[in-house]
Amino acid sequence: MGYTRSTDRLIAELSRLPGVGRRAAQTMVLDILKLPQEEAVRLARLILDVKKKTRDCTSCFNLTEEDLCPICSDQSRDRGLLCVVEEPHDLAALERAKSFRGLYHILGGVLSPLEGIGPEQLRVRELLERIGAGAFREVLIATNPTLEGEATALYLGRQLKGLGFPVTRLARG
Ligand code: ZN
Repeated sequence: MGYTRSTDRLIAELSRLPGVGRRAAQTMVLDILKLPQEEAVRLARLILDVKKKTRDCTSCFNLTEEDLCPICSDQSRDRGLLCVVEEPHDLAALERAKSFRGLYHILGGVLSPLEGIGPEQLRVRELLERIGAGAFREVLIATNPTLEGEATALYLGRQLKGLGFPVTRLARG
Protein backbone atom coordinates (compact mmCIF):
# COMPACT_ATOMS: atom_id res chain seq x y z
CA MET A 1 0.00 0.00 0.00
CA GLY A 2 2.14 2.74 -1.28
CA TYR A 3 5.82 1.91 -0.60
CA THR A 4 8.00 -0.34 -2.73
CA ARG A 5 7.18 -3.96 -3.47
CA SER A 6 9.79 -5.30 -1.00
CA THR A 7 8.81 -2.93 1.82
CA ASP A 8 5.15 -3.82 1.32
CA ARG A 9 6.05 -7.51 1.53
CA LEU A 10 7.99 -7.06 4.76
CA ILE A 11 5.19 -4.95 6.26
CA ALA A 12 2.69 -7.65 5.31
CA GLU A 13 4.87 -10.38 6.92
CA LEU A 14 5.44 -8.42 10.14
CA SER A 15 1.72 -7.58 10.38
CA ARG A 16 0.96 -11.31 10.41
CA LEU A 17 2.53 -11.52 13.89
CA PRO A 18 -0.29 -11.43 16.46
CA GLY A 19 1.36 -8.66 18.50
CA VAL A 20 2.12 -6.37 15.56
CA GLY A 21 -0.49 -4.23 13.88
CA ARG A 22 -0.11 -2.81 10.38
CA ARG A 23 0.89 0.60 11.69
CA ALA A 24 3.58 -0.81 13.97
CA ALA A 25 4.86 -2.96 11.08
CA GLN A 26 5.14 0.13 8.86
CA THR A 27 7.06 2.01 11.54
CA MET A 28 9.40 -0.95 12.05
CA VAL A 29 10.15 -1.24 8.34
CA LEU A 30 10.84 2.49 8.00
CA ASP A 31 13.14 2.23 11.04
CA ILE A 32 14.92 -0.77 9.54
CA LEU A 33 15.51 1.23 6.35
CA LYS A 34 17.29 3.89 8.40
CA LEU A 35 19.71 1.33 9.91
CA PRO A 36 23.28 1.16 8.62
CA GLN A 37 23.69 -1.82 6.27
CA GLU A 38 25.67 -3.95 8.76
CA GLU A 39 23.06 -3.46 11.51
CA ALA A 40 20.27 -4.56 9.20
CA VAL A 41 22.31 -7.64 8.28
CA ARG A 42 22.92 -8.38 11.97
CA LEU A 43 19.20 -8.12 12.68
CA ALA A 44 18.36 -10.49 9.83
CA ARG A 45 21.00 -12.98 11.07
CA LEU A 46 19.64 -12.79 14.63
CA ILE A 47 16.18 -13.73 13.39
CA LEU A 48 17.64 -16.80 11.67
CA ASP A 49 19.76 -17.56 14.71
CA VAL A 50 16.94 -17.55 17.31
CA LYS A 51 14.80 -19.61 14.98
CA LYS A 52 17.55 -22.19 14.49
CA LYS A 53 18.75 -22.45 18.11
CA THR A 54 15.63 -21.95 20.20
CA ARG A 55 13.34 -24.79 21.16
CA ASP A 56 10.93 -25.74 23.92
CA CYS A 57 12.26 -27.08 27.22
CA THR A 58 11.34 -30.76 27.30
CA SER A 59 10.04 -30.37 30.85
CA CYS A 60 8.35 -26.95 31.25
CA PHE A 61 8.12 -25.69 27.62
CA ASN A 62 10.06 -22.53 28.41
CA LEU A 63 12.34 -21.34 25.60
CA THR A 64 15.78 -22.91 25.69
CA GLU A 65 18.84 -23.73 23.60
CA GLU A 66 19.42 -27.00 25.51
CA ASP A 67 17.10 -29.92 26.31
CA LEU A 68 16.24 -28.37 29.67
CA CYS A 69 15.91 -24.64 30.25
CA PRO A 70 18.17 -22.89 32.82
CA ILE A 71 15.36 -22.91 35.40
CA CYS A 72 14.65 -26.64 35.12
CA SER A 73 18.37 -27.43 35.33
CA ASP A 74 18.93 -25.14 38.35
CA GLN A 75 19.27 -27.57 41.26
CA SER A 76 18.88 -24.79 43.84
CA ARG A 77 15.21 -24.23 42.93
CA ASP A 78 12.34 -25.66 44.97
CA ARG A 79 11.26 -28.75 43.01
CA GLY A 80 8.12 -29.21 45.08
CA LEU A 81 6.50 -26.01 43.80
CA LEU A 82 5.02 -25.66 40.34
CA CYS A 83 3.72 -22.43 38.84
CA VAL A 84 1.51 -22.61 35.74
CA VAL A 85 1.76 -19.64 33.35
CA GLU A 86 0.44 -18.85 29.90
CA GLU A 87 3.54 -17.94 27.90
CA PRO A 88 7.33 -17.62 28.28
CA HIS A 89 7.01 -13.85 28.81
CA ASP A 90 4.79 -14.49 31.86
CA LEU A 91 7.55 -16.68 33.27
CA ALA A 92 10.08 -13.93 32.55
CA ALA A 93 7.93 -11.38 34.42
CA LEU A 94 7.71 -13.64 37.49
CA GLU A 95 11.45 -14.24 37.35
CA ARG A 96 12.11 -10.50 37.27
CA ALA A 97 9.95 -10.11 40.38
CA LYS A 98 12.18 -12.75 42.07
CA SER A 99 9.32 -13.87 44.30
CA PHE A 100 8.98 -17.45 43.06
CA ARG A 101 11.71 -20.07 43.45
CA GLY A 102 9.99 -23.19 42.17
CA LEU A 103 9.54 -24.65 38.68
CA TYR A 104 7.16 -23.57 35.92
CA HIS A 105 4.82 -25.06 33.37
CA ILE A 106 4.01 -23.07 30.26
CA LEU A 107 0.54 -23.75 28.93
CA GLY A 108 1.08 -22.11 25.56
CA GLY A 109 -2.04 -19.94 25.80
CA VAL A 110 -5.44 -19.95 27.46
CA LEU A 111 -8.74 -21.68 26.84
CA SER A 112 -10.72 -19.74 24.27
CA PRO A 113 -13.76 -21.53 22.88
CA LEU A 114 -14.41 -18.68 20.43
CA GLU A 115 -10.98 -19.19 18.87
CA GLY A 116 -11.29 -22.96 19.01
CA ILE A 117 -8.66 -23.33 21.74
CA GLY A 118 -9.55 -26.17 24.08
CA PRO A 119 -7.42 -28.15 26.56
CA GLU A 120 -6.03 -30.26 23.68
CA GLN A 121 -4.52 -27.16 22.08
CA LEU A 122 -2.72 -26.27 25.33
CA ARG A 123 -0.17 -28.29 27.31
CA VAL A 124 -2.76 -29.51 29.80
CA ARG A 125 -2.08 -33.21 29.28
CA GLU A 126 1.64 -32.60 29.84
CA LEU A 127 0.81 -30.63 33.00
CA LEU A 128 -1.36 -33.39 34.43
CA GLU A 129 1.33 -35.94 33.58
CA ARG A 130 3.99 -33.90 35.36
CA ILE A 131 1.82 -33.50 38.42
CA GLY A 132 0.79 -37.13 38.30
CA ALA A 133 4.47 -38.11 38.43
CA GLY A 134 4.28 -36.96 42.02
CA ALA A 135 7.20 -34.62 42.75
CA PHE A 136 5.14 -31.50 43.51
CA ARG A 137 3.52 -30.58 46.82
CA GLU A 138 1.79 -27.42 45.63
CA VAL A 139 0.62 -26.01 42.30
CA LEU A 140 0.14 -22.29 41.74
CA ILE A 141 -1.93 -21.13 38.80
CA ALA A 142 -0.72 -17.78 37.52
CA THR A 143 -2.71 -17.26 34.34
CA ASN A 144 -3.43 -13.60 33.58
CA PRO A 145 -6.47 -11.83 35.11
CA THR A 146 -8.39 -11.79 31.83
CA LEU A 147 -11.70 -13.58 31.23
CA GLU A 148 -9.91 -16.42 29.43
CA GLY A 149 -7.14 -16.52 32.05
CA GLU A 150 -9.68 -16.86 34.87
CA ALA A 151 -11.67 -19.50 33.00
CA THR A 152 -8.46 -21.43 32.38
CA ALA A 153 -7.50 -21.19 36.07
CA LEU A 154 -10.95 -22.50 37.05
CA TYR A 155 -10.69 -25.37 34.60
CA LEU A 156 -7.20 -26.35 35.77
CA GLY A 157 -8.27 -26.01 39.41
CA ARG A 158 -11.05 -28.52 38.82
CA GLN A 159 -8.74 -30.95 37.03
CA LEU A 160 -6.16 -30.78 39.82
CA LYS A 161 -8.73 -31.11 42.55
CA GLY A 162 -9.76 -34.28 40.77
CA LEU A 163 -6.22 -35.51 41.38
CA GLY A 164 -6.57 -34.52 45.03
CA PHE A 165 -4.06 -31.73 44.66
CA PRO A 166 -3.83 -28.44 46.57
CA VAL A 167 -4.08 -25.54 44.10
CA THR A 168 -3.41 -21.88 44.75
CA ARG A 169 -4.54 -19.11 42.43
CA LEU A 170 -1.68 -16.68 42.21
CA ALA A 171 -3.05 -13.15 41.98
CA ARG A 172 -1.28 -11.07 39.37
CA GLY A 173 -1.57 -7.41 38.54
ZN1 ZN B 1 12.24 -25.84 31.70
